[in-house]
Amino acid sequence: MIHLRNIVQPNLVLGGDVLNLRLEVLQERGIRGIILDVDDTLVSAYSRELSPALRQWMDSLRPHLKIWLVSNNLNQPRIAQIGDDLNLPYLWGAGKPSRRKLRVAAEDMDLPTNEIAMVGDRLFTDVIAGNRLGMYTVMVEPMVNPGDPPRRHLLRTLEVRFFRLIGAFSG
Ligand SMILES: [Mg+2]
Repeated sequence: MIHLRNIVQPNLVLGGDVLNLRLEVLQERGIRGIILDVDDTLVSAYSRELSPALRQWMDSLRPHLKIWLVSNNLNQPRIAQIGDDLNLPYLWGAGKPSRRKLRVAAEDMDLPTNEIAMVGDRLFTDVIAGNRLGMYTVMVEPMVNPGDPPRRHLLRTLEVRFFRLIGAFSG
């Protein structure tokens, strides 16, 4: 149980979406690279439209951090479109909590894993994968885009409840 607790607890739990993650917070911790989940982290799973605010946020990080997108989505065209649109390298079908594709991104960044932040909306995939590699893990609230149908993010909610219940997650 202690092992599970360590592996599920993010280093930082943001009370809002990814736009609330500030460069200074990362730099204070010596972070020089960032791996971003895509669906519900950068863009809602129902949308392909990247908000102007997201583009602006990404441009503010770009000069200071190495950035990769690593998605579990098996829809390669979707992830490619978002990656190309943001002009960022991407990996799809990552199978997080598997470490495999996070390692590929980390090797390309040529940074030690403790200088890389793994940022995503899910405990069971993003946070566990990042923690397993000793990355700085950040959990964000799901991104909501205009025109999204009402969603309850059921899996995410169940995960959070379950891990809280067994004392493995606080935040
Ligand atoms: Mg996600």
